[in-house]
Amino acid sequence: MAESLAHDCIPFGYELDEDHQLLRDSIREFARGVVAPGAMERDIKGEFPAEVIRQLGEMGYQGICVPEEFGGAGLDALASAIVVEELSYADASVGVINSVQNSLVIDPILKFGTTEQKRKWLPKMASGEWLNCFSLSEAGSGSDAGAMKCRAELKGDHWVINGTKLWVTNGAEADVVLLFVRTEDTDRRNASCLLVPKNTPGLTVGKHEDKLGIRGSSTTELIFENCKVPAENLLGERGQGLRIALTAIDGGRLGIAAQALGIAQAALDRSTKYAIERKQFGKSLSDFQAIQWKIADMATRIAASRALLYKGCWIKAQAGHSLHIPAMAKVYAAETATFCANQAIQIFGGMGYCREGEVERYLRDAKITEIYEGTSEMQRMTIAETLVAHPERLTDI
Ligand SMILES: Cc1cc2nc3c(=O)[nH]c(=O)nc-3n(C[C@H](O)[C@H](O)[C@H](O)COP(=O)(O)OP(=O)(O)OC[C@H]3O[C@@H](n4cnc5c(N)ncnc54)[C@H](O)[C@@H]3O)c2cc1C
Repeated sequence: MAESLAHDCIPFGYELDEDHQLLRDSIREFARGVVAPGAMERDIKGEFPAEVIRQLGEMGYQGICVPEEFGGAGLDALASAIVVEELSYADASVGVINSVQNSLVIDPILKFGTTEQKRKWLPKMASGEWLNCFSLSEAGSGSDAGAMKCRAELKGDHWVINGTKLWVTNGAEADVVLLFVRTEDTDRRNASCLLVPKNTPGLTVGKHEDKLGIRGSSTTELIFENCKVPAENLLGERGQGLRIALTAIDGGRLGIAAQALGIAQAALDRSTKYAIERKQFGKSLSDFQAIQWKIADMATRIAASRALLYKGCWIKAQAGHSLHIPAMAKVYAAETATFCANQAIQIFGGMGYCREGEVERYLRDAKITEIYEGTSEMQRMTIAETLVAHPERLTDI
């Protein structure tokens, strides 16, 4: 893995403070020393990085924003993004596994859970003992989350769940499912959110997807057949499920932007190094203007992605709320990752197209960042709808 060429982050004119720099150095050392070496083999075999995730848990990275009183590291959204970026630089599968754990499951528990629920669920998540998954999508309900059909009925003091969920990241290995179900027939937007231990009778893992990229992370069906969980496993209020899901995904966008940024930076670093070393026509590839412009375009897009991502993290860390900035960060970083991975292959030439060059994986991994946690089309809708509804925010971008 190449050394980062120009990776000192200066968001909006400010350097990372000392704590964030120390965090970045320490997760970078782990990512490049421990995570990267097995990434290609796990990709080829479609193998879950169990040992890496175990070590991340031991180091506190699986519950990075959990307050110390619930056993976590108590760090902020920028810290979480730095961890996902550095992990994804080494292996984007590890990046998304960590992002789902923190942004999509722990964050909503922190935001919507009761103190009792936080005490019950968070410590084992924070220590890495429990791995999480987030289960919203179904065959007929992707971008249109309100169309979900999986149902839960309150019978006595238990919810009884029936239905099938699709495309669940960490679905095979997770211990806890944050599950979204219909709880009313009358209103298609009426849904609720349940915490379901994976070993609950009536819950089975169905089909495993064979994927283009992020092949080290599992993506599975989850099948619920008269699966019963206690009434107190409801997160938030009955009927508040879609709000919880959309709030989680708003936060998750920063995680996926960080994943995309890590892939893009790796593609830039690797291909720039190669362009300097590789000689054709008696010169380095990096002496040719056609190659220089690719490097310039990649670096510029990465810098802009990082500024957007850090701005989104900064807003979140101030307990502020913005729909359009995280959406901008996600759509821009995702398309930057695909762009940079594609350029890296071009700079590597034939070697870029072959597994041995180890850059083709970046393109396969990058593509999913344009699809999950809201496709690029949905991000653009969010950005435009927010700004059209609130033109006063046009000056706040
Ligand atoms: C590897 C992987 C991991 C995933 N992990 C999870 C997970 O952990 N949990 C989970 O719940 N889900 C997960 N998903 C599901 C993912 O979030 C959905 O695939 C995504 O939201 C898109 O939904 P869809 O695939 O049904 O596409 P569709 O919604 O059918 O969209 C298809 C195309 O139409 C476009 N489109 C749809 N509606 C509109 C519109 N109104 N205007 C313009 N264009 C539109 C979309 O942008 C897209 O290009 C995962 C998916 C994959 C592939």
